[in-house]
Amino acid sequence: MIPAQFDYVRPSSLAEAVQALSAGGEDAKVIAGGQSLLPLLRLRLAHPDLLVDIGGLGELAGVRDAGDALVIGGMTTIHSLISDPLIREHCGLIAAAAGTVADPAIRHRATIGGSLAHADPAGDLPTVISALDATLVATGPGGPREIAPADFFVDYLTTALAPGEILTAVRVPKLGPGWGFRYEKFQPTAQAWAIVGVAALARRADGQVAEARIGLTNMGTVPVRARAAEAAAAGAEASREALAAAAANADEGTDPPDDLRAAADYRRHLARVLTGRALAGAAGAG
Ligand SMILES: Cc1cc2nc3c(=O)[nH]c(=O)nc-3n(C[C@H](O)[C@H](O)[C@H](O)COP(=O)(O)OP(=O)(O)OC[C@H]3O[C@@H](n4cnc5c(N)ncnc54)[C@H](O)[C@@H]3O)c2cc1C
Repeated sequence: MIPAQFDYVRPSSLAEAVQALSAGGEDAKVIAGGQSLLPLLRLRLAHPDLLVDIGGLGELAGVRDAGDALVIGGMTTIHSLISDPLIREHCGLIAAAAGTVADPAIRHRATIGGSLAHADPAGDLPTVISALDATLVATGPGGPREIAPADFFVDYLTTALAPGEILTAVRVPKLGPGWGFRYEKFQPTAQAWAIVGVAALARRADGQVAEARIGLTNMGTVPVRARAAEAAAAGAEASREALAAAAANADEGTDPPDDLRAAADYRRHLARVLTGRALAGAAGAG
């Protein structure tokens, strides 16, 4: 189908973009890589009056070292997340998950900002950002503000971004020594969306997992932290068996969808199994 008519602007600075977006109010939308928005426009599931194209804002692309954290610009493509040397050195989980997103053609256009702002619970990057305890930076007419993932992802395809706000960056704490990671994604075919995904981080010390962080993809309307499994993994022996046992409650507190692709109970089973595998991988035990 052909999208409904809309006005289009392509600002050359962030200030201009915020101004245009604010002036458009609820009827204006940002377009970044267009990989999610264009299909919605063509299906007429979205019909903004104004599109603000932020594709020309080079200032929002790239990764910067900010001491104890990396700052990833909102317009950084998913493709560049895979190979960026800073990300690979300090936050390799992002590169690992980015490599599972869609296919290379989509990854070259799609952006981290678009992926997070779209807030699809089957998206891989929202889960990873949650597990990494990152901070999202939204810039509106009042300047930038920082939002924790638990506050940013509000509901299915819904975020805390206010009209006029652009997701300009993500601030990701660097992983210190001893931390390992693994992203496990169960997908029906290569390059497909996750039926369930698990992002695990583990800090290993003296043959044990000293600390664990686990995010679940597609186990609710927003990315979910598997807090019960995180608590069970802390102090567990860094072995496959012990971490599979720690993952037994990984689905606690989740509300997975029950749809044509998978039943909710099956997703719960996957969450437990994949969490055990992801924890073992993160702890260097499997
Ligand atoms: C065939 C296909 C397969 C896919 N498979 C996967 C997959 O396996 N895993 C996965 O995680 N994703 C997958 N995706 C989704 C893809 O990663 C997203 O389309 C993409 O990340 C969205 O980014 P974008 O830059 O294209 O955003 P756009 O499509 O431009 O925008 C998406 C939404 O975010 C808003 N937006 C964009 N940027 C900003 C910003 N900086 N600030 C505020 N709002 C903003 C837009 O207004 C719009 O509402 C798939 C997509 C397709 C088409």
